[in-house]
Amino acid sequence: MLDQNEFLHPDKECLTREQIDALQVERLQATIRHCMNSPFYKKKFEEMGIKPEDIKTPADVRKLPFTTKQDLRDNYPFGLASVPLDKCVRLHSSSGTTGNPTVVLHSQKDLDEWANAVARCLWMVGLRPNDVFQNSSGYGMFTGGLGFQYGAERLGMLTVPAAAGNTLRQIKFITDFGTTAIHAVPSYLTRIKEVMDQQGIDPRKDTKLKVLAIGAEPHSEEQRKRIENMFGVKAYNSFGMSEMCGPGVAFECKEQNGLHFWEDYYIVEIVDPETLEPVPDGEIGELILTTINREAMPLIRYRTRDLTRVLGRTCPCGRNHIRLDRMKGRSDDMMVLRGVNIFPIQIEKILMKFKELSTNYLITLTTDNDNDNMTVEVEVNDFDLNDKDKVQQLTKEVTRALKDEILLTPHVKLLPLGTLPQAEGKAVRVKDFRKVYQ
Ligand code: AMP
Ligand code: ZN
Repeated sequence: MLDQNEFLHPDKECLTREQIDALQVERLQATIRHCMNSPFYKKKFEEMGIKPEDIKTPADVRKLPFTTKQDLRDNYPFGLASVPLDKCVRLHSSSGTTGNPTVVLHSQKDLDEWANAVARCLWMVGLRPNDVFQNSSGYGMFTGGLGFQYGAERLGMLTVPAAAGNTLRQIKFITDFGTTAIHAVPSYLTRIKEVMDQQGIDPRKDTKLKVLAIGAEPHSEEQRKRIENMFGVKAYNSFGMSEMCGPGVAFECKEQNGLHFWEDYYIVEIVDPETLEPVPDGEIGELILTTINREAMPLIRYRTRDLTRVLGRTCPCGRNHIRLDRMKGRSDDMMVLRGVNIFPIQIEKILMKFKELSTNYLITLTTDNDNDNMTVEVEVNDFDLNDKDKVQQLTKEVTRALKDEILLTPHVKLLPLGTLPQAEGKAVRVKDFRKVYQ
């Protein structure tokens, strides 16, 4: 059960399903009313004849139009604002490799609510004002920096805004400042541990770490377990996206049985990405989010492109906020090879079964003689790459296990630790050179 001191909005944290439904209807109606201030939504709602009174249950959200990333790009930079710009105090922008970047505007109230949501997540996993929180996210436009910063401060912890990179300095901060919790992308935590090993630092003995918050990029349950074993502490999945504010959208509770999406902030739908019709609980589909307490820039039925499924609507922790499975990946991450659909996470899941392999891997796709080929490069842990027989044997086993999962035979290459490129933020897991030939 929840402890009595539950942080921020205690009245919202263990609402019953009936209470969640009533709050969502009230907040969605208010959101529709408010969105009439945005030329973008006003036009859409008027064309479709949508009125706030049309919303009688949360499922009535389906009467509303979808919003896509392209809509954000087409209305760059401020076309989706529902308040005058002078009411906005911050914007975050994601870099677009093609076309306009996306911009998300925040009022002071939005920033306050965002900090509350992040604080609620961190409190949920046992962090308290006497904890020391280190954030290894990039600060700036990437929301993982400022998002966690304000949330951790709101909770009252001593915060260490270490920012991205400089692993030796990160480790010094962890040991010198008595860091008890760290937020990092999973691929970077692995790097921190590698360098700790080189330095002869044992996180179990030489640090006070007790909580890891890992997120911002897809990772498998197997990778989470690896990370937990490396540090000897629990690693909780943290989900966020810039369009919804950033971190704080969803977080695992101590049960670690899926991500609680905060339903007093968002209406969650899972739809078939082709038909856009809802899929039954338990089936994988695209996550659609509607913000219901945003001021500067509410988003209606935002197509996240993330694929996941509903696990449940109750939890032994006492919270009834919907639980979703870890992200399977984004629909745009799906690789289609010789007609087979493959997600990077499937490859990761298999690699993690081999204790000789590290969590650093790279999938490369190429076309040779009109055939799609996949190469999986993976760094080894304690393993002698000079022993040719052992290398051959392990390569064979890994190849076979991958083939069983993805039904194709990849080329597997074992590499020494530290040879693959290390990203400062989210890990790059796939390089697709086939596009050159298209
Ligand atoms: P950004 O807006 O740059 O923060 O990126 C948001 C995207 O990162 C999401 O739409 C997801 O695809 C991915 N993401 C964030 N958190 C997680 C997570 N915990 N697990 C898997 N993917 C995540
Ligand atoms: Zn729970």
